[in-house]
This record gives sequence, structure tokens and C-alpha cells, in this order.
Amino acid sequence: MDIAIHNSWILTLANEKLGIIKDGTLGIEGKKIIYVGPSEGFNHRSADIVIDGSNHLIMPGLVNCHIHTSMQLLRGGAQDLPEIEWMNKGIGPLAKHVTDDDILLGSQLGVLEAVRTGTTTFSEYARNVENLVKEVYLPFNTRVVATETINEVSQTNKASLKPTELYEFDQSKGEIALKKNEKLFRVFQNEDLVTCLYGPQALDMVSLQTLQQIKEKAIDQNSRMHIHVAQGRRERLQIEERFGKGESTVKILNRENLLGDFLIAVHCHDTDDSEKEVMVYKRSKMIGCPSSITMIDGIIPPIYSFSKLGGDVGIGTDQAPGPGNHNLFREMRTISMLTKSMMRDPTAFPAWEMLRLATIQGAKVLGLDNDIGTLEVGKKADIVTINLLDSFLTPVISNPFHNFIPNIVYSATGKEIDDVIIDGKLVLRNGKFTEIDEETIIKKANLRAKEIYENAAEDWKEAGSKMVRDVKAGLL
Ligand SMILES: [Zn+2]
Repeated sequence: MDIAIHNSWILTLANEKLGIIKDGTLGIEGKKIIYVGPSEGFNHRSADIVIDGSNHLIMPGLVNCHIHTSMQLLRGGAQDLPEIEWMNKGIGPLAKHVTDDDILLGSQLGVLEAVRTGTTTFSEYARNVENLVKEVYLPFNTRVVATETINEVSQTNKASLKPTELYEFDQSKGEIALKKNEKLFRVFQNEDLVTCLYGPQALDMVSLQTLQQIKEKAIDQNSRMHIHVAQGRRERLQIEERFGKGESTVKILNRENLLGDFLIAVHCHDTDDSEKEVMVYKRSKMIGCPSSITMIDGIIPPIYSFSKLGGDVGIGTDQAPGPGNHNLFREMRTISMLTKSMMRDPTAFPAWEMLRLATIQGAKVLGLDNDIGTLEVGKKADIVTINLLDSFLTPVISNPFHNFIPNIVYSATGKEIDDVIIDGKLVLRNGKFTEIDEETIIKKANLRAKEIYENAAEDWKEAGSKMVRDVKAGLL
């Protein structure tokens, strides 16, 4: 046995329950869990590494179903803005000055903060995602679901177009991206930590013809199609302009046979009840990004509605400029609180349900539930330990009920994580990265971000977003 964690509280999350074990031990050999159960009668001493789990809780690593880490150096660069300004006047003028090296550095920073706060699986959605996987995710030893962004919007006049003016498509652009997407399956076929999805960006950014082609390929590969769906006003304006008044993304996807269990739909906030129903009926999966959509659109993502309809749902953090960071502890709390407020019902989305949403439910959406998401013998060893002696988790009560279940969701910050094991390997031990130089990444990120903002300053001012006026008024 390679690693044993003993004398710990364990949440297995198996069998649709929390699976609470007191004084438990978890044993790991190679990449897999070989024992999870009571400490008594199990010899942990034969393990190469023995971790004393007393005053700790062990649970499955968290699953981030939708993340773009590439713009991480622009954290704090676009928020408190009208939705219609966020892209073109907010983040756009800054993003123009981000280089390929900045993308890698930003991604390192994003993965770093996410692992530190318990994320072990990342569903990364990016252009040239192969590079991010090789340069960032694999060196960090994280599990990654790689999705290549496929976008056919012609670059020639996009920047000058208003949301009501139809974007032109350039199918050759789509073909190049699709080839890159297909290549991922070959390049990473023997890599245990990597699985791949297809990533048509959105129905207003890819032609129907290309989408149909991608659907066939996804089904052939036994993979799925990960797409932004019904993201709000700009998408609706484009869809009506292209397909006619009264049309919507979900109506078209349904009519074109593009809803099904091969589809993972992100966001979905511009959908009505019948559209949500048909998506769940056709077994399409849904991902919501609570902090991101609240910050950028002022909207609560419809995770609760999809969940109550019986759909498979997961959560993600999207990108850092806007919502701030990639901490899934914050996302569990945020979506629970927003949903309680929206439903005017404090029983909506209770703590236990949030723990499942951020683990096994997310794994199911990504098609990884046979491998990860619960602590069971034979599953991959993706595990986090939480220090219960932290002030935010004190006191720890287990009779007459376990108060640490609500406390993990509503009080913990994520920094109570002590150890992170991914694919059987200790990535974080006692709060310190085992192989990654955290300090250097943070230092470099600060230096480089300063340069980006300096280079972008004139473009940013000229774009004239609300933030520019806030600066003039001494508010930013
Ligand atoms: Zn996205």
C-alpha cells in the first residue's frame, strides 16, 4: 500500500448518501482506493506514507465542470459592469494585451488556487487547450477534461459589430479548431489524467452544419459536446437575427436533433420552463457557474430548476475576471444562498446536496462517475483532507448530528484543506505543494499583470466602460 490516512472522519458520498464514517481509514495503492472503512482491524502501518487523519475529514476531490483559466491575470479587471459592456468594453481591451506566455502563467495561477481549495478535476475550455494540458495541468498532476473552443465567427469585423448586427461565419476557422479538438483524443489517449470533450462555443458562434458534424464525432468517440447555451441577451439577439423572430437556442437545438445525452449545456439562463423540461427530457446535462453569472449578468443560474426536474447538473467557476476565483467551496455556498433567496425557501439546496453537486454530480455530467466523485474501493484516488480544528469549522459536533456537514458548505473558505491527492499522488501536503513553487508563480503573475495593465491602459480608457467613469469619480 502506498498511502494510508487513518483515524479520520470520512465522507464517502457513495450510494446516494453522505456515507459518514467515524474513525475511518482510507488506503491507496497506485492510482486507486483499495480500502475505505473503519480503522479498527485494518493495518495502516504497511503503507509507505501514513497520514494521521485525526481532527480531519476526508472527502472526494471537487469537480469543476466549467473553467477558463486563460484570462486569470485579468482578475479584478471587469466587474460591476452592465452585461452588454463586460465583453467588449470591459475585458476585451485588456485581453488584447495578453500573450501566449501570459495565458500559461495565468492558467498556472488558476490551477494553483483551485487545487489549494480542493479541486482535483478541471473541465478546461480553451483555444489550444492541448498546450494548457501539457504545460500546466499535467505538471500539476491534476485530472483534466480538455475541451477545445470551436468558434467560427469571422475576426475581420467582429470588434466593430454591435450585438444586433449579425456576425459572419468563417467555416474554415471552425475546421481548423475541430481538427485541433480531434487531435486531443489521439495525443492524450494513453494519459490517465486526461479525457476530452468537443467544444463548439455557442449556437451564435458556430454554424448548424458544423454542430451536426461535431455531434456525430462526439457520439462516435463516446464523448460529449460541451457548449455554452442560452447565455443571455447578446446570444438571443444574434439567434433572432440569424434564424428569425421568436427563435431561441433551445428551440433550434431541439428541432435539429442536437439535444441528447451527448450534450453538456453550460449556463442556460435564457431558457423558459418548457425549454428546461425538454432539455432534461432529452437527458442533456447542465452546468451552472454561480458567481460568474451573478457577477456578469446579474442572474442566478438555473441549477436548481434543472436539478428539481431530475437533470444531471454540475457547477463550475468560469473565469476569474468577473467572479474573482476558482474556489468551489465558495460556489457551493453561493448557489445555495442564491437559490434560498430566489425561492424564498431556506430549505432549498441544503448542504448535503451541495457536497454531492460539487463531487459525484459533476463527475456524472463529465462522464467520469465510474472513476471519481465518491470514495469507493476501485475508484481513482482523488481525495482531499480538511482540517476540522480550523476556527471556521470549530466546534466539531457529531452528536446528536454532524454539524461539520453544514459548516463545510456555509462556513469553510476552502483554505482549511490540508492534503490533496490526485490519481494516487500527493499534490498538496500539510497545506504545501509538493512539487509546485507557489511563491514564484504568484510573484511572476504580479509582475506580468502590472505590465499588461500598463500596456492596455489607453485602450481600456478609450473603450469607456462604466469602470472608466468610476475611476474618474474616485470609486475605483
Ligand atoms: Zn464558458
